[in-house]
Amino acid sequence: MIKADNLFFSYTGSPPYVLDGINWEIRNGEYVSVVGENGSGKSTLMRLILKFIKPTSGRIAVQTKRIGYVPQKNDFSNSNFPITVYEALNSYRKLLKIKSKDIITDALEQVGMSDFTDVLMGTLSGGQNQKILIARALLGKPDLLILDEPSTGVDINGQKEIYEFLKKINKENGITVVSVEHNLDAAISNSTLIYHLMCGQGHLCTPRQYVDEFLKNRGEKR
Ligand code: ADP
Repeated sequence: MIKADNLFFSYTGSPPYVLDGINWEIRNGEYVSVVGENGSGKSTLMRLILKFIKPTSGRIAVQTKRIGYVPQKNDFSNSNFPITVYEALNSYRKLLKIKSKDIITDALEQVGMSDFTDVLMGTLSGGQNQKILIARALLGKPDLLILDEPSTGVDINGQKEIYEFLKKINKENGITVVSVEHNLDAAISNSTLIYHLMCGQGHLCTPRQYVDEFLKNRGEKR
């Protein structure tokens, strides 16, 4: 689904590189959490997958055009710009040139937000807001969903619901999920693979391997 070969990226086009020789291969149906310190290049890697930016050298190939993206921040919660849940989704539907309006009802139902069509985006809780962003990303029926820290600003119950939902669409609908995570517990419990970025380089492992390495680095024995 996503393959990176010797991928280098720098915002200035020259060294030092934010991404310093990334190689990875993510197959269809995986749920990958991308973890790493602030500034380690996680969002940059997502921007490369989304083709918002181009590699400085090397290549990244994404085998689908049906990509849903859930950004970390959105403009909808700005109370100076009141927009209902329906309007938020409908404007995106138009942007995607999707004819059927039923797709909005379906997406809202999928994330359990059917009762919120006429509610103003700015009055939603963090978790509800995130569910609408996920519903929006699902409008185009993606087979790859990219999320940037989906649990930011979401309370514990909301987090649980969001991760259960992501796991469900990954398992049942076969949607490949790539999620930037600062929430390590969520990364360990939900994903099939963890990609750990450090100093511009990264490595892919199972959640179990990640926990073992983490404990080893702390000098603990299991
Ligand atoms: P993370 O998502 O892991 O916090 P980022 O990908 O946002 O990391 O940032 C990686 C590095 O690239 C940081 O040093 C950051 O300051 C720099 N950076 C991010 N975005 C830009 C940009 N638009 N222009 C220049 N430098 C940037």
